[in-house]
Amino acid sequence: MRFAELVCSMLHSEGPLLTIDLSESEASETDIEAEQERYIGGRGLATKLAHDRIPFDADPLGPKNRLFFTTGPMQASQMSFTGRMNCTAVSPLTNGLVSSNAGGFMSRNFANTGYSAVELTGRADELSIVHITDEGVEFEAVPDLEEATVPETADYLEAEHGIESDQTAIVGPAGENGVRFAAIMTTKDRAFGRGGLGAVLGSKNVKAITVDGDSAPDIEIPATQMDVHREAATDDHIMKRQGTVAVMSLANEIGGLPSYYFSEQTFDGVEGINGDAVEKKKYKKGTCSACAFACKLPTRDEESGIETEGPEYEVAMAFGSNSGVDDIVDVMKSNQLCDQYGLDSISAGNTVAAYLASEDAFGDVELIHELVEKIAYREGIGDTLAEGIARCHDELGVENWSVKGLDFAGHEGRVLHGQALSYAVSNRGADHMYATFYSVEYPLVDAEDALDPEGATGKADVLVERENLMALSDSGIVCKFSRDYMNPERYEALFGADYEELLAVGDRTVTLERHFNNQRGFDSSDDVLPYDVPGLQDGIKEYYDARGWEDGVVPETTLSEEGTAASP
Ligand code: SF4
Repeated sequence: MRFAELVCSMLHSEGPLLTIDLSESEASETDIEAEQERYIGGRGLATKLAHDRIPFDADPLGPKNRLFFTTGPMQASQMSFTGRMNCTAVSPLTNGLVSSNAGGFMSRNFANTGYSAVELTGRADELSIVHITDEGVEFEAVPDLEEATVPETADYLEAEHGIESDQTAIVGPAGENGVRFAAIMTTKDRAFGRGGLGAVLGSKNVKAITVDGDSAPDIEIPATQMDVHREAATDDHIMKRQGTVAVMSLANEIGGLPSYYFSEQTFDGVEGINGDAVEKKKYKKGTCSACAFACKLPTRDEESGIETEGPEYEVAMAFGSNSGVDDIVDVMKSNQLCDQYGLDSISAGNTVAAYLASEDAFGDVELIHELVEKIAYREGIGDTLAEGIARCHDELGVENWSVKGLDFAGHEGRVLHGQALSYAVSNRGADHMYATFYSVEYPLVDAEDALDPEGATGKADVLVERENLMALSDSGIVCKFSRDYMNPERYEALFGADYEELLAVGDRTVTLERHFNNQRGFDSSDDVLPYDVPGLQDGIKEYYDARGWEDGVVPETTLSEEGTAASP
């Protein structure tokens, strides 16, 4: 299956691209219907635009980098699993193209502007907030908000403009200070987390964007949406109580819970930070817009007064087992600080764990919380850690637990070998959501597509299909936690196209990401892990063959089939 022709009536996002040139304080619109028909919306559309519009040699933190916000057609639905939106740019952490996907309530407010994509380029002269509505763009200089936290900025917007946090994307001090794993926060505690997109927005001297309007495109969504929604509302699923941290005890049982900066794979204190521990602190339901699945975790500790959302599994791993911390309240505090300062809580936790390893200080909670603050403000050792593990591990004298600069997620490739293969070849680095391969490899997975976790060979075709499916869901946009409720027939019914044609949208997206990264120097020498698993090298070769790549590089002939310009 290579770049099959699409049915042009396929459901896709509608509305023009809004380009905001921050250097000139100007905005303009471009019709992008041809791109929308072939890339749907979300990550697919943003990848196509980024590939064609960002110079291949752009400095991630320079004015030529472009940051894209996009939604998909499903944000016009009432379906569960659609309260998410996409952000794409060249990452200061990986130096490649990275897309990150945030939940919350921003996506539908964004759709109300009438734009399917917003692009920010250049650099504002002064620290600014960019207000985007269906009536135009306004630039507001906000020098007084320099180094304000995310809640302080959200409070300002509400008090001065009556704008709710659900209409905002904000960077904290971490983004302003160029921390390479700074996040963009929306709805105060939801993050465009991985890859340092907060540093990109900060480098443009933008403290926040706001979105408002009454011009959402009228997209007709097929009735299948209500079947999905009904099942999400009525099903008894453990994620509704414990979110992703529900998996932690299983991960520990199979020797797959990264602990003590990846030096161990089980954690004695797991009961203090697992799903049950988080559930005890959960005080109400939490969700994203329109989602009846409601897997989010608003938590509160009455004794200390600490209140946050989560921690999810990855954060309970990074600030918990990987940092030698066995009390969920301490992890909640780390999570809260990351949200306030605007940090990716996975990378922040792993990087703190790297420092703890260098100082033999695992479990020192006071130090951990102090380090998070120092990273956000680049103070002292925080300035070193703000560069991320790949750039600071030598100075710390610890191993480099990252792929392409992105530190590892908590689903352990040393046990789940197909997940290891996915980490190695992913365009985004050691990210679990790129293929969610772990979801078919955990023992006890009760699914037709369950795989033996042993060995990395013979899994390439499944990996390609999963990467394509994840890129499709990121383009729709449909939350990846819908996996028990979405199937090929439902994708076909919702998007009005053959499933193979829909997976081809994902294929194009992954291929364009890889092609962009190839132009920045990436090849097979970047598809490496800091450990080996049985059959890894053969698995990587099988993957390249399945993708039609040569030594990790997309042949230019593939691009001409695609009809994409090879340079911007
Ligand atoms: S499943 Fe969870 S993360 Fe996904 S949209 Fe629903 S509430 Fe948000």
